[in-house]
Amino acid sequence: MKHWGVIVGIIVFLGAIYFVQSVSAEEQTIAICNRDKQAFCFQKRLEDQSNVLGNVNIPKIATPEWISIPANTPVTRTVTYRVATIGIINADLAEFKQTASTTLNSPSGWSRLGVNFVEVEAGGDFVLWLAQDIEVPSFSPSGCDSTYSCSVGNNVILNQTRWLNGSEPWNVAGGNLSDYRKMVINHETGHWLGHGHRYCEGVGQAAPVMQQQSIDMQGCTPNPWPQSYELMSSRLGIRS
Ligand SMILES: [Zn+2]
Repeated sequence: MKHWGVIVGIIVFLGAIYFVQSVSAEEQTIAICNRDKQAFCFQKRLEDQSNVLGNVNIPKIATPEWISIPANTPVTRTVTYRVATIGIINADLAEFKQTASTTLNSPSGWSRLGVNFVEVEAGGDFVLWLAQDIEVPSFSPSGCDSTYSCSVGNNVILNQTRWLNGSEPWNVAGGNLSDYRKMVINHETGHWLGHGHRYCEGVGQAAPVMQQQSIDMQGCTPNPWPQSYELMSSRLGIRS
């Protein structure tokens, strides 16, 4: 009698498979149907769902300010910064402050974004640091090293050793120290404005300011100023 149980079980199993197959075959054949009359009216259900989606109120996203501004229209806004030092400083701090202010507000620099950079005594949108080289990594042990300058969050950090000496690739390419200082101010402030790094676009061309010119000129010529194609700031919501 045990064999009968097995046989009945197999018959039930095969019947179940046949039933499932026939249902799925029916689903496939009904492409256009009347939902009110046919239980498996999937096409109609899809239409109903898309109608529902079509009626969903999509939230209106505020238009970014720069979209409504015609290109090349001057935008006037103020960015404040505070100057601070860390570690043993041998450089002339007054000269550092003066160079920073004239560079940031130069008609050749980021002021072309329509931004005035104003030094303040306290607070500030960012802090411009003149740092002893061994102090630079203290801002980010993984992102900054003692050889170069760095930008971390609202800290724009200039390495004093680079400030006093420039860098070998820059100097070898014929760059002078005055321009190096402007370049490194613009480059590190460029990070704060929202820029990543760029690369030399062709041998003999002026480097983009966001190229790491302290490390490798990549065949470009030294350039301390942002290129016209770099004139934007995701942080400030400004495009050229
Ligand atoms: Zn950089």
